Amino acid sequence: MYAKPDSTTMKARVAKAGDAMDAALKSLSYGMSDDERRLSAVGLDGMRGANDPGRPDIAPNIAPLPDSAQRVPNEVALGRPSRQEAEAAVRTLLRWAGDDPTREGLIDTPARVVKAYEQIFGGYRTDAEVLLERVFEEVEGYSDVVLVRDIPFYSHCEHHMVPFMGLAHIAYYPTKGVVGLSKLARVVDAFARRLQTQETMTAQIADTIESILQPRGCAVMIEAEHLCMAMRGVQKAGVSTITTQFRGVYRDDASEQVRFLTLVRNNKG
Ligand SMILES: [Zn+2]
Repeated sequence: MYAKPDSTTMKARVAKAGDAMDAALKSLSYGMSDDERRLSAVGLDGMRGANDPGRPDIAPNIAPLPDSAQRVPNEVALGRPSRQEAEAAVRTLLRWAGDDPTREGLIDTPARVVKAYEQIFGGYRTDAEVLLERVFEEVEGYSDVVLVRDIPFYSHCEHHMVPFMGLAHIAYYPTKGVVGLSKLARVVDAFARRLQTQETMTAQIADTIESILQPRGCAVMIEAEHLCMAMRGVQKAGVSTITTQFRGVYRDDASEQVRFLTLVRNNKG
C-alpha cells in the first residue's frame, strides 16, 4: 500500500538536483546574449513574454508561478527554454527514436507536442490552494462527510514521463463550509498535470485540502494504472496501484477509514 517517502532522502535528492541545476544554468548563461541575460534578470514575467514574441494568442504578462505550484526553484523557472528550443528538443528525440523529423507526417509534430505539453503539464501554472478559497458557508449546519469519488485523472510519472491514469476519491468533514464539488476535481487536475509519483500526488491533494479547508478529517485515495509498468519494464497490464492519505479523524479513528473505504466501494461491484 502507501509507502511513506523518506523525507531525508527526498531532501538530499532535492539538494542534489539543485546543485546540478545550478551547474546547468551556469553553463547555459555562457551562451546568453546580453539581451537574454537582462531578460533573465527581469524575472518570470519578462522571460515568459520573451519566449513567445509575436504570438498574440499568448498573454504577454502571465502571473508568476504561485508558491504552491512550484516544485522547482525560481532559478530553474527563470531558465525556462523558449518554445522554439522545446520544439527543437522534440525533433532531437524523434531522431533519437530513429525517425526523420522532416518527413511530412512529423513536420508539425514538435509544435503539436509542445502545445499538448502546455495542457498536460498545465498544473505547474495552477495554484491549487486558490481553487479552494471560496467556500459556501450556508449549508444549514451540515458537518457530516462530503465524499467525491471516481474523479478521473491523467498524469505522467516523473521517472519515465509515461502516463499513469485512474480515479481519485476524496472525503472531508467540513468545519467552516463546503467547497464546490467541481473544485475538488480541479485540485486533482492541478497536481495530476505535472510530473508526478502517485504517492506525492496523493499527499499533495490531502495537504492542500487540509491547509485551506481545515477539515476535521480528510481522506484521499488514488487508484491508478501506470503505463510505464504496462508498456515497458515488467510489462504487466491491468495492475492497479492504490495509495491513501488519512488526516485528522481519518488518521486517528480506524472506523472512519472503514466508513470511507465502504463509501468508495459502495455499488461498485
Ligand atoms: Zn514510470
